[in-house]
This record gives sequence, C-alpha cells and structure tokens, in this order.
Amino acid sequence: MSFNLSSRLAERHTASLYRHRPLLETPQGPVVNVDGRELIAFCSNDYLGLANHPRVVAALKEGADRWGVGGGASHLVVGHSGAHHALEEALAAFTGRPRALLFSTGYMANLGAITALVSKGDSVLQDRLNHASLLDSGLLSGARFSRYLHNDPASLANRLEKAEGNTLVVTDGVFSMDGDLADLPALCTTACAREAWTMVDDAHGFGVLGATGAGIVEHFGLGMDEVPVLMGTLGKAFGTAGAFVAGSEALIETLIQFARPYIYTTSQSPAIACATLESLRLVQEDAWRRTHLRVLIARFRAGAARLGLALMDSPTPIQPILIGSSDRALRVADRLRDLGVMVGAIRPPTVPVGSARLRVTLTAAHTEAQVDRLLDALADAISEVIPHD
Ligand SMILES: *Cc1c(COP(=O)(O)O)cnc(C)c1O
Repeated sequence: MSFNLSSRLAERHTASLYRHRPLLETPQGPVVNVDGRELIAFCSNDYLGLANHPRVVAALKEGADRWGVGGGASHLVVGHSGAHHALEEALAAFTGRPRALLFSTGYMANLGAITALVSKGDSVLQDRLNHASLLDSGLLSGARFSRYLHNDPASLANRLEKAEGNTLVVTDGVFSMDGDLADLPALCTTACAREAWTMVDDAHGFGVLGATGAGIVEHFGLGMDEVPVLMGTLGKAFGTAGAFVAGSEALIETLIQFARPYIYTTSQSPAIACATLESLRLVQEDAWRRTHLRVLIARFRAGAARLGLALMDSPTPIQPILIGSSDRALRVADRLRDLGVMVGAIRPPTVPVGSARLRVTLTAAHTEAQVDRLLDALADAISEVIPHD
C-alpha cells in the first residue's frame, strides 16, 4: 500500500475544488500584474492600502539597518527585541488594554491563546462560521468543543447550559467569508451571564472599524469586562505581518508561560515590527482611509443592488456575491479576469457546500471609477455565464 495522492488530487479537480496560486509580479495595490496580466484586484485584505505605503516600506528598511533581519531566537530566549517590545506597548495603548503580546501569525495567535486557556475538562464554544484557525485550535485544545448557530445568542445560551469547566466563547469579529459583524453586545451578555469568557478574533475589523480603527470592540463600545481576550492581525488592514492578543496583565503572562505556539517559535523579524509601528501611526493619522472605504462600500452595494446581485448583509469591505455552485463561481471569476478584474471564487471547504461565492474586497486604495469598472464587469460576466447553465 502507498498513499494514493493522484486520485485524491483528481477528485478535487472533478469537483471544481482544485486550488491554484495566482502568481503576483507586483506589490499589493489596486492594480496588479498576475500571471502576466494587468488586473484591477478586488481580492486582497490590504483594506487601508498600507502594504506598499512608502512610509511603511521606509520603516522596514530603517528597522533592518537598526536591528538586522532575523529574530534570531524565541522571545523567551534572546529574540525579544526593543522593536517587538515597543510595538507591544503601542498595541496595548491603541486597544486601551494593559498589555498586548505579539505573535508571528494570526493562526498562531489563535492556536496559542485557545490552547493556553482551555484544555480537557473545559469547554470551548464557537460560531459555526468562525475562521479555520479558531476551529482547528478548539479541536486541538482537548476541551469539549461545540459550535453554535451563526451569530445566534439563543443557540449559544443553549450550548452554555451543557458547558463544563472554564468556558471560552470564541467568535470572529467580522466574519471573513460573509463580511457581517458578530452581534457582540448580545453574545457577550449571554456569555457573561454564565461566567464564560469571550474571545474575539478581529482580523478583519482591526484598523477598519471604530472611529480610530481600534476595531469591532471600539465600534460597539465594549471593554475588557465583555471581551477579555481580543486578538487582531497585522497582515490585513495594517499591511505588514503578524498578530497580537491584548488583555489583562494576568492574561498576557499566562500566554507567555503556557502558549506553546508563542514559546516554541522564533520571534518575527524585528524590522517587520518597525514597519507595523509606522502603519499603526498611519491607521491613526489617516482617518480619511476609513471614510473613503465607507464611500466605496456604499457605492458598490448600491450598484450591485441595481444589478440584482445576491449581496450579503455586510457593512464591511468584504462584499461577497453568492453564486451557489463551485463550477459556476469559477466560471464567473474566469470571465471577470478576461474583463480585467480579479475577484476570488471562494468554494467549500472554506464556505458551506452550495454557497460558493465571489468574495469582493474593497480597499481605501481603490477609486470610485475602479468600483464602477468592477460593477460593469460583474454585470457582463454574470449575464454571460448564468443564463447558459
Ligand atoms: C486571516 C485570518 C487569520 C489568520 O491570520 P494570519 O496572520 O494570516 O495567520 C485568523 N483569523 C481570521 C478571521 C482571519 O481572517
């Protein structure tokens, strides 16, 4: 017997689920060169247009001059540099919490926080549409794991009845494939009533939501009592890389002592931390980026509604258009590329079977004219592909 990899791969092809990596030949931006073609991209998570901002690039270079490139060791050995420390202090101040802890990726921050907080004998309750990194972490923690219905406090209350031990309720702040907001006020009230802690993964809200960009907790005016564990990522609106968890002194010390994905890994490049410090300044200084993004979101939604497209209930830069079958979503995305527009076709297992979609994402670097080009291309592509099915 041997692994039959080729038949597994062939099945993926047949089901229209095979994944390819488009080859990017330019920095992130509204116009990119992908697989040799110039396209307007509506699929990155660089929501504020900071990934290639000259000030962020300059900060990376200066950071490399000052600190070198490699982290060199884990934080607990000799990898915790002044650059990492300054970024943690700035993130703590920005989120209004006593401490923040820097991780190399969002996946690791989720894995680290969840496995440090719950284990066998405890419970972890998650929205069924949570990001894969949260669901994986819940399973790996060894705690009793259950999923409640999407954004449904009543379903959460029902699961909480059966919970045992320390109980952690975990939700995306902005759902990454639907773009809707977690109903945090209601979910937190439900969790608090049962003395459960709430953890929010704000990968898509941090930098984008709230008056200062502090994310979904700022948007709803919630603090550490309601959301003791706040996680944000730096590779999306912040345009750099890494992630953090912010919370109480005791929470952060617990993660430093017990979060294995924090302890057993090399610190991120200190130069990246310098770049993130600069992008944090831009997030705070340039409120116009969030304002412009809101204008683009409203323009896109009004135009898409006129075309009769199946929008979802999203006030965020994530604006999915439900298509249904994977094959059809792929064909619409292909046609859009021929028309000069790049949009991701999101298929199972990333989204539930039968709910393949085009995941349009808008950024502050787009212009209104580019959004209009997208709407024209969508009208053409959908009218060409769908009537022939
Ligand atoms: C992107 C994402 C992550 C993972 O963050 P990385 O830094 O890319 O590893 C975690 N949670 C959510 C909701 C995300 O969208």
